[in-house]
Amino acid sequence: MPAWYWCVLGALLGATIASFLGVVLERVPRGLSLNGRSRCACGRQLAWHENVPIAGWLRTRGTTPCCRQRLPRTYLAGEAAGTLLLGGLGLLAGPLGIAGGAVAAIVIATGTAHLRRHGTRRTDDDGGH
Ligand SMILES: [Zn+2]
Repeated sequence: MPAWYWCVLGALLGATIASFLGVVLERVPRGLSLNGRSRCACGRQLAWHENVPIAGWLRTRGTTPCCRQRLPRTYLAGEAAGTLLLGGLGLLAGPLGIAGGAVAAIVIATGTAHLRRHGTRRTDDDGGH
């Protein structure tokens, strides 16, 4: 496969994975399930076409599609970073680069979500000292 193919595939996967990891970082620290479709802050379930990474944010200019509440720019920044990261890795290193970048992004995001939920408290017994 030509390098451009891996670049485009990596960019699409990067946007998708980053969007999902954004959901992980939003829900896991609050103890919410990862099951179920995304919802607006007003409670309305989002249609699939309202939830397309980057395009959805740009189409509504960073607001929710129904009640026009402002969305954090970190949503767009995370999805753009995922797009550039896996697109670049696909271009430079092919499918193994995409896979490595995806695994690294998943490990970092799930670790961050875990720390946000549970903090950095120690689980070992320090003997009361
Ligand atoms: Zn709404």
